[in-house]
Amino acid sequence: MTHVSGSCLCGQVTFESKDDFQQFHLCHCIQCQKATGSAHAANLFTAPENIKWLSGKQLVKRFDLPGRTISNAFCMECGGAVPYLSLSGNSLIIPAGCLDTPVSIAPQDNIFCSEQAEWYQEAITAHKFDKFPE
Ligand SMILES: [Zn+2]
Ligand SMILES: [Zn+2]
Repeated sequence: MTHVSGSCLCGQVTFESKDDFQQFHLCHCIQCQKATGSAHAANLFTAPENIKWLSGKQLVKRFDLPGRTISNAFCMECGGAVPYLSLSGNSLIIPAGCLDTPVSIAPQDNIFCSEQAEWYQEAITAHKFDKFPE
């Protein structure tokens, strides 16, 4: 089985995982919008034992939203998203954006679309540029 590797924005937190993902959800819920600062989260799910931390694990800060089964984890230096265990401990969640290598699974679905950012539909069809527009 092949592996994927990933890192935070500053590069101090690095990890690898088996490329063995059962779920890949794009979550549009309000909490994921808050956690990512964007329209949706992009979360890969694998077995907890598949993660191998290579560096910076001591920089990982975890936040569990009180009363909800929602968590977030980030590098304390740069704020970049990093993997974390689900609250149940049954799954390891890897934010797809922190991967540095291709992953074999494609997004399966968009979930919590009833909470979708009101600007998201326009975002999909907005002009596309390869860099800042001139
Ligand atoms: Zn970092
Ligand atoms: Zn969500």
